[in-house]
Amino acid sequence: MTNLNGGYINPQDRPSGFDDGDDGFGSKKQKTLEDWKREQQERRHLYENAPPPEHISQAPKCIECQVNIEMDPVMDDIFKLKVCKSCVKQHPEKYSLLTKTECKEDYFLTDPELNDPELFHKMEKPNPHSGTFARMQLFVRCEVERFAFKKWGSEEGLDKEWHRREEGKSQRREKKYQQEMLKMRMKTRAQEFTTRLKERKHGKAHVHNFSAPIDGGTNDDGYQVLRRRCIDCGLETEEVSI
Ligand SMILES: [Zn+2]
Ligand SMILES: [Zn+2]
Repeated sequence: MTNLNGGYINPQDRPSGFDDGDDGFGSKKQKTLEDWKREQQERRHLYENAPPPEHISQAPKCIECQVNIEMDPVMDDIFKLKVCKSCVKQHPEKYSLLTKTECKEDYFLTDPELNDPELFHKMEKPNPHSGTFARMQLFVRCEVERFAFKKWGSEEGLDKEWHRREEGKSQRREKKYQQEMLKMRMKTRAQEFTTRLKERKHGKAHVHNFSAPIDGGTNDDGYQVLRRRCIDCGLETEEVSI
């Protein structure tokens, strides 16, 4: 432990003006006596507010390992959790950070709940996926989970809600499928109806009813041509008889 030299000033950072030697105060860093006094008061204030070093054994320890006293700064400052860095890494089921979307999708929480500062601590970060100034909000899993279990009654309650929603989804899919089928059937029926209407007007899909071949003379190549004519629609065909 550093000798605090009477409690307040570490010999290594004594004001330059008070160094042993012949510099005389004020010569090195232009410190005046007033500066030095003020500095000394600030130091005293600092030391008095720091936890007494002899009680370092009583400093708060990591709630997981009960050993480390240096906390993960994000957990400590933002989420008010006294957890050390290595424990954060070892327990992602408690300390991993979740996006707002993940909180909604995995725990069925709502925007008003997630926006309530009374319910959740959150870390805000510039959103890497957004060109706008929207900030990404991150939540810590244990806090989100605790609230979700309360909201849905228990962990089982949350599971039940998940199943209920999945069922709802598959019912909606089934319903959509049925609707598509119905639409298709109606479309087919409409087409059939149109076809039948046409048939009633013009008769069934037309099959030509050709007459016996008529002599059509000879063509430019000197072959004999036979003509046939549909008795119903008047369509004519030519055949070359070789
Ligand atoms: Zn720990
Ligand atoms: Zn015809």
